[in-house]
Amino acid sequence: MKRIAIYCSASDSIPEIYRSAAYRLGVLVGEARLELIYGDGGIGLMAQVADGVLSTGGTVTGVIPRFMVDRGWHNPKSTNRIVTETMHERKAYIAREADAMVALPGGVGTFEELLECLTWKQLGLHNKPIVIVNINGYYDHLLAALDHMVEEHFMQPLHRDAMFQVVSTPEEVLPAIARAPHWGKEEQEHARS
Ligand code: AMP
Repeated sequence: MKRIAIYCSASDSIPEIYRSAAYRLGVLVGEARLELIYGDGGIGLMAQVADGVLSTGGTVTGVIPRFMVDRGWHNPKSTNRIVTETMHERKAYIAREADAMVALPGGVGTFEELLECLTWKQLGLHNKPIVIVNINGYYDHLLAALDHMVEEHFMQPLHRDAMFQVVSTPEEVLPAIARAPHWGKEEQEHARS
């Protein structure tokens, strides 16, 4: 594994517990000599993760649509910047280039990115590890919604159990990626059942 995608909040108004966890995850990613690939945000948890990686001398690649650069929303500290024409191109680029996907707490933007990663894995379009970092129980409601999907048969138990992992601290993220459940052609067959 070389490159890790981290999706997270672009808000600067959130409590410190989330900010320090994001910075810490960035430090751990940098210390592991992994490259961060992310949405190039210069604020919120996005900036915290990038700052954590950069504090170790690590590499940060930001992928951001042109309209955001025009508004000055990019992170000037990023090591590399890929400018895309659309949000969809940005998400596709990050998902293609990353070897693993991690979601820290975030708003609708982060949820959309996480749920797209899950949807594409369910369809067999990729088999990369996905880790949800449930800082402060932030994702409890989403996890309950996924449980409800399974209970009502809108989602298969296999997809709830084996497609992603949930951890509660930054320290657990890289070990979780290393022991991610196998996801191969057999699992892909479940997409249509
Ligand atoms: P959210 O989780 O709703 O805070 O949204 C996070 C996602 O929204 C990011 O991954 C970006 O796609 C986008 N986004 C929103 N605001 C910004 C910003 N100021 N700079 C960069 N990306 C942003």
